[in-house]
Amino acid sequence: MDAARLALNAVNPEVEIAALQSRIDFQAAEKLVAQSDLVLDCTDNFATRQLLNRACVEHRTPLVSGAAIRFDGQVMVFDLRKPDSPCYACLFPEDGEVEEVQCSVMGVFAPLTGIVGATQALEALKLLAGIGESLSGRLLLLDAKNADWRTVRVTRDSSCTVCANR
Ligand SMILES: [Zn+2]
Repeated sequence: MDAARLALNAVNPEVEIAALQSRIDFQAAEKLVAQSDLVLDCTDNFATRQLLNRACVEHRTPLVSGAAIRFDGQVMVFDLRKPDSPCYACLFPEDGEVEEVQCSVMGVFAPLTGIVGATQALEALKLLAGIGESLSGRLLLLDAKNADWRTVRVTRDSSCTVCANR
């Protein structure tokens, strides 16, 4: 954690980084999200993704989620400031059957993590600055093996257990 902070500050010394080395639970996530303008989810497991999503829905904080495994990348923006925005659970329900596949087991084509991360950064900066059209309501899919990018429309699920009654 400190190594990551040092590396990032070496590139950009003006950025203030608060590195926390602890397992995150919902209470901690909620507290951190309440102090944030935007959340970037770069985690590698379903449980943490759902927990961050819940906290973002609660505080109507924009969530920029990215994932990469093998040759497949995904980026999603949930601009929860908008009342009609879907949330992560609208797409991947909390009680859904999810086969947890992690990079540590399945591997990931190295440049893909850079592409997904840079795309998340691009969307985050646009959302914060209020520039252009975000990926909100669309799922960006990159099939790196076949050099194919596409977007799929995602709509709010009116029976979503996380955001339906907010
Ligand atoms: Zn939802």
